[in-house]
Amino acid sequence: MRLAGTVKHSFVDGPGIRFTVFFQGCPHNCKGCHNPETHDINGGETVRVEDVIRQIDQTKYLDGVTFSGGDPLMQADAAIRIADFAHQRGLSVWCYTGYTLEQIIAGKAGKQAAELLRHIDCLVDGPYIENLRSENCIYRGSTNQRIIKIGGQDEGFDFGAPYRKGLDGG
Ligand code: SF4
Repeated sequence: MRLAGTVKHSFVDGPGIRFTVFFQGCPHNCKGCHNPETHDINGGETVRVEDVIRQIDQTKYLDGVTFSGGDPLMQADAAIRIADFAHQRGLSVWCYTGYTLEQIIAGKAGKQAAELLRHIDCLVDGPYIENLRSENCIYRGSTNQRIIKIGGQDEGFDFGAPYRKGLDGG
């Protein structure tokens, strides 16, 4: 897989302490993107999925794993394998993407990206829109982006609160 980087203990990519995997490659080219170096699918570094899984396995005190980037949906096969391992360890899985949930379901991000929805607990969807940027968007950059509960983990997390706060215009 092509990897932009990892953060072992992140507090900003979902609830609790999370291992964040930054996937390399993104087709969205959002104006004002904070991670433009992650756009080139040939950038970053090539790593084995097993090596990312081993890093997660060796990291203590985690509540979850988050896929960020870049757009993880460009490498959905790798994301599925990591997500399945995370669930084996009892960790929740969040995934950021520039696609909307509706686009993914319609197959616009590819067949495996639609399949990935069956392997995650939460999707943070939609492109970053600079003129909708808000500091009050918890775990997101702009108010159009949604935090969508997909799977069964994260039982203690209030999915409604940060969503409403964003919609209020923050
Ligand atoms: S989807 Fe994310 S990484 Fe891709 S261009 Fe938009 S803000 Fe940047």
